Amino acid sequence: MEKNVELRVLEALAVRGVPVDEAALSNLRAGYEGEQKFARAVVEFGLSHLMWVEDYWFKVGNGPKRQPDFLLILPYEWVAIDVKNYQSRFEYREGKCYLNGGTTPMDNIVVAAQNRNQSLQKVAREVAGNISVRSALVFINENCHVYQDDMPCDVELVPRTLLKPFLEQYLGTGVVKDWLRDRTLSVLDKYQTEYGFEVKGLRVEQFGELRRGIVCGGCGQYGLVKNKLHIHCPHCGAEEATGDVVKRHALQLRLVFYDNPEMVTIKNVYELMGGGITQRTVRTYMYKQFKVVNKARASYYDIDLSAKKSVTLLSDGISSV
Ligand SMILES: [Zn+2]
Repeated sequence: MEKNVELRVLEALAVRGVPVDEAALSNLRAGYEGEQKFARAVVEFGLSHLMWVEDYWFKVGNGPKRQPDFLLILPYEWVAIDVKNYQSRFEYREGKCYLNGGTTPMDNIVVAAQNRNQSLQKVAREVAGNISVRSALVFINENCHVYQDDMPCDVELVPRTLLKPFLEQYLGTGVVKDWLRDRTLSVLDKYQTEYGFEVKGLRVEQFGELRRGIVCGGCGQYGLVKNKLHIHCPHCGAEEATGDVVKRHALQLRLVFYDNPEMVTIKNVYELMGGGITQRTVRTYMYKQFKVVNKARASYYDIDLSAKKSVTLLSDGISSV
């Protein structure tokens, strides 16, 4: 599973010593951990052979961008699943949502899921007329107790303790046939959009604020030692090929300057790494790994973060779960 781009940008900024919104960072991390736990449960309970679409952002007509964390595609039904990693009690009372026994309602995640069902239903209808859409909100955290005074329409609330039976109900479900799978993917692809939240990177003139040096891909610490073709981390013992290190730092630079792709130049990657790898070596690996874009006076290397990805299936990423 890949982290979303907002989390990747915040992590890259934090690694480079730029002050970030810590609450946002920890919320995104918790969300990501929750999704990983859910993906592991899918594998553990024997359901990874089904068609699971990951992290699907879509838009129908002039409606807002919407996203289920996971979309389970069955022959006659789509189940849009949101994974919530709340640490405290969640309540659904009189049609409103509350966290931790509070009296002020939080964002209404049930209504949001219901609205999303309607949009997804339009997408599903384009695949086949007989597909119904519903949602499930999975509260993955062991410490989250779920209380509800009513059953919302077409949205199921699933506490951690009921995750196993929730998933196991699909054990006997048939796998979608190849033709339906292809058709579904092509329709999903048609409505897919980019990441739905605003992502904020640095301004070009803030380059000087970034901490310089080579960062370990394993433990995130500075102070790495260069051997001939490898970079060695004295803190965690990780070894990484120089080409991979260059690539990773170029990507980090790209994330940090989310709105300024032209910042990915040889000189900037070299400087970001604190001069630990020669410009010549940086150029060699950049040239091998990325496409050069020539602009009036300078050229930069193209790393496309915003491009629409093809629809991702959970099974593609199971090894990395
Ligand atoms: Zn390390």
